[in-house]
Amino acid sequence: MNTYKRDLFLKEFAEMIDSMVDYEHFSRERLVDNLCRMARLFRLTKVITEFYKNITDEKDGKGEVLCDFDEGPAEVVVMKKEIITKIGAIVRVTAYSSKDMEELDEEEERYLAIVLRSLMSYVGRNRLQTAVEVLAYHDGNGYPNFAYYFRHLEKMNRQGGLYGYTAIMYNLKQFSLINRDIGLEHGDVVMRAHFETVKALVADKGAVCRVGGDNFAAIFPTELLESVISFLDNASIGYDPQISSTVEVSAYVGVFVIPKEFRFERPGNIVEMIMPACQAAKASDKGDVYYASLKNLEMKENVSRVRRHFEEALEKGEFKAYYQPKVDVETGKIIGAEALCRWIRDGKTIQPMEFIPILERNTDICRLDFYMLDLACKDIRRWLDEGKKAVRVSVNFSRKHLVNPKLLDDIVNVLQRNNVPYEYIEIELTETTSEGDYQKLKNLVEDFRENGIHTSIDDFGVGYSSLNIIRELPWNVMKIDRSLLPMSHAEKYNSSAVVYKHITAMASEMGIECLTEGVETLEQLEILKENSCMYAQGYYFDKPLPLDEYEKRMESGSYSVKDDE
Ligand code: C2E
Ligand code: MG
Ligand code: MG
Repeated sequence: MNTYKRDLFLKEFAEMIDSMVDYEHFSRERLVDNLCRMARLFRLTKVITEFYKNITDEKDGKGEVLCDFDEGPAEVVVMKKEIITKIGAIVRVTAYSSKDMEELDEEEERYLAIVLRSLMSYVGRNRLQTAVEVLAYHDGNGYPNFAYYFRHLEKMNRQGGLYGYTAIMYNLKQFSLINRDIGLEHGDVVMRAHFETVKALVADKGAVCRVGGDNFAAIFPTELLESVISFLDNASIGYDPQISSTVEVSAYVGVFVIPKEFRFERPGNIVEMIMPACQAAKASDKGDVYYASLKNLEMKENVSRVRRHFEEALEKGEFKAYYQPKVDVETGKIIGAEALCRWIRDGKTIQPMEFIPILERNTDICRLDFYMLDLACKDIRRWLDEGKKAVRVSVNFSRKHLVNPKLLDDIVNVLQRNNVPYEYIEIELTETTSEGDYQKLKNLVEDFRENGIHTSIDDFGVGYSSLNIIRELPWNVMKIDRSLLPMSHAEKYNSSAVVYKHITAMASEMGIECLTEGVETLEQLEILKENSCMYAQGYYFDKPLPLDEYEKRMESGSYSVKDDE
């Protein structure tokens, strides 16, 4: 090369290398442009780059082979270079020339080697990025995974929101049986074909992914819901074209039609809706499709709110004991009261149904029950000290306490600590469902009886009451659930009235005090009197009252129970 040619050559060369190592701005067009330059500079006719993720792929010829430049006969291999990246990927580049092209001199060869190295490093980097993308957003079988779904949701949210779309999660029913019947390989074919059909239904308007196993998730415009559900409900999928065999595939589907007011903060918000919905669809016997609603979400949020604030609420004394009087139906006298919990938070009253069932999912309820017992004991002690009228107060104790072998001791401790005579406290327990619990409950009620602490069986008649529970356990009081109390005399001969009549008769014959809950009308009160139920509790007299109102009520200590008033 003469000096002039050499200068030009070096200038071109330097520009090319600069541009090839500028990874950020490197594009396919730029690559092709550089290859053309390279070809001109080094008199090449063809350049082929190959990329293999690993040696096995290379052996099997499973790689990407790109011919980025092809301008003439590839008769002579001018240079072939190969690199193996740190993670074992192979990049190879081969440069060709034609027979009648002037051969490269030594210096040109050195420069070409540098260019090819830069090219390989670019290709390697670029292809690895794609490979990483495939790995990150696909599972081992090549299905788009949850991360892919998440990325799609985020993109949708940025580009106009999710309103108008429906998200679903579905589980292929008994896919393990399908696998067993037709073999794993055919099972794979069926699953793939099923997936591809949903993907085609959704097309480019949404996304489908495999969550794992035989669980999938999708999102698509709501107008496609009907066709998607109809396919998921029952699809006939072929797996062996030679014998035209098909298998029926159906799915449990959890559906969330995304409403306008839905607040999307992260993809997890969608999963929180569709995952439990899919589980509900599986568990339900009312059909295979379950629609999630924001109400579910509110419930979930309520659960976490209750859990989060419980500890603090206990410390701050936000739980209060309300008292609902129990009344002697003949005399109208208040003979007792039930302590019922209310959570007063930020000036609002939260009803027990909103938090008790949540606390009952773990042992938090046990702490609350002891807290309530302590509150009741403190009030009783004060009434006694102030010379006020005091009656026996019953406190609800959850079934969760049955696992506590020291329950009786713990209760006795609270009574003694507050210096409350045992006769002022009654422990309400509910029926049990399992045999093991029944034994524990039996021992417990016997121990209470021996120690002189009153017990009552609460909500009798709800669920699967067994008569053994009143025959074999020495309760002091039976509290009949309001669902057993007839609404009026007109119901006198229906089955619940007959049950009510016999249960009250049985309790009184066995010497168990009998109280009916939920007495709301005078007519119902009459029904109690006509049967053998001595005590009533219900709105007819009072709702559960805050402490001050209850204390006022106790000043008179009775109600009128005559029809003429
Ligand atoms: P429960 O022990 O059966 O309490 C009676 C429930 O019936 C109370 O509801 C009471 O307000 C309601 N009630 C009373 N009279 C009437 C009436 O005439 N009509 C109607 N419709 N309802 C009436 P509340 O206070 O909402 O409590 C509900 C349940 O929450 C209680 O049922 C009890 O199972 C549970 N609970 C309340 N406080 C506690 C507690 O401190 N510990 C535990 N473990 N459970 C509690
Ligand atoms: Mg109760
Ligand atoms: Mg009850």
